[in-house]
Amino acid sequence: MRRRAHATVDESWCGRLELLVLQPTPFCNLDCDYCYLPDRDDTRRMSLATLEAVATRVFQAGLAANEVSVIWHAGEPLTVPREWYAEAFALLARHCPPGVRLRHHVQTNGVLLDARWCDFITTHDVHVGVSVDGPAWLHDRHRRTRRGQGTHALVVRGIEALRQAGIPFHVICVLTRESLARPDEIFDFFAALGPSCLCFNVEEVEAANGRSSLAGPDRALIEGEFRAFMTRVVERLSPSAPPFRVREVDHVVQVLRDPAYGTRRGNSQNEPGRIVSVAWDGTYGTFSPELLGITDGRLGRLGLGNVLVDPLPPLLGSESYRRQRDEVRRGNERCRATCKYFDLCLGGAPANKLGELGRFDGTETMFCRLTQQAVADVVLAALDDMGDARRAPQAPHAASRE
Ligand code: SF4
Repeated sequence: MRRRAHATVDESWCGRLELLVLQPTPFCNLDCDYCYLPDRDDTRRMSLATLEAVATRVFQAGLAANEVSVIWHAGEPLTVPREWYAEAFALLARHCPPGVRLRHHVQTNGVLLDARWCDFITTHDVHVGVSVDGPAWLHDRHRRTRRGQGTHALVVRGIEALRQAGIPFHVICVLTRESLARPDEIFDFFAALGPSCLCFNVEEVEAANGRSSLAGPDRALIEGEFRAFMTRVVERLSPSAPPFRVREVDHVVQVLRDPAYGTRRGNSQNEPGRIVSVAWDGTYGTFSPELLGITDGRLGRLGLGNVLVDPLPPLLGSESYRRQRDEVRRGNERCRATCKYFDLCLGGAPANKLGELGRFDGTETMFCRLTQQAVADVVLAALDDMGDARRAPQAPHAASRE
């Protein structure tokens, strides 16, 4: 049975945790020019004692939902040895109460993937996401080693190891300005690569990345290019045999199919306790994972405590928690009052609001105009077109025109 959290902590977190983001190390072996991670030169690693504190706090306080995705990320996870993960997975399994299902995920840059990692991934049923931005000329502009060398060939080699082992994978493709003119080239590249799902991230202004090629004075032009890009991607998703799913399209369709559509008040990034992110040293936070490790000029350190010494969930009286929570909540309420896309987006991502607007209680950002508003318009227009096509008078059978 789940133990009740102490009365002075925020008990509303109980049973809500669906995503546990764990930073095994802040270190990354690459130096991508749009990276938001502030400490990617730091090679320190989470100790198993810190992980034990995470597990104890999360599971004994009854924070977990019935299914929890554990994402090993926020540095390059494959720079940590497999032996460490074997112990870490066993530790979490020991603490996980019956009735809670843990699913492990890694989001990797792919360059260290090989047959030994594939054996480990298969044995432990780890879900894999690989970051690759499309064809080599595009990927290598941004995703480089510390010596400035492109990494595309290494990533494709890593993906080939996954394919040889029969391991399904999704890809995250970061869109920069130069991507937007090449939807067919990017689509064809991924169709040949074979992911189960293609996820488009836009180059974001957040944390350590203070600029984006998609932000700037020519906003209307960029948004037009983005809409044209997504329109072409949706056109290429032939309904009969799409080569992969596209996360952004799936999202809109899933939200529309949700029986609770129109009644939800927030999403996993802006409702406290649905995501918990823990840094290598035990510092934890909630809301957008990208906020972990950030010090904001106005709000101070955005970590809410450390699992080694502080309660999780945080104390209700904690000044830093109250300020974050209340400001995020105000942002959500403003979004709900002003934005016609609210029921699809549910108030956006606090990390992007802070990165672009300097506050959690703002509303519209470049990030949401592209990834929520433009995508919704494109997908809804495609659904309208499909409906029109079904209602249109049937064309004569091709054979009758011969
Ligand atoms: S699309 Fe932007 S403005 Fe609208 S609800 Fe989402 S974050 Fe708020």
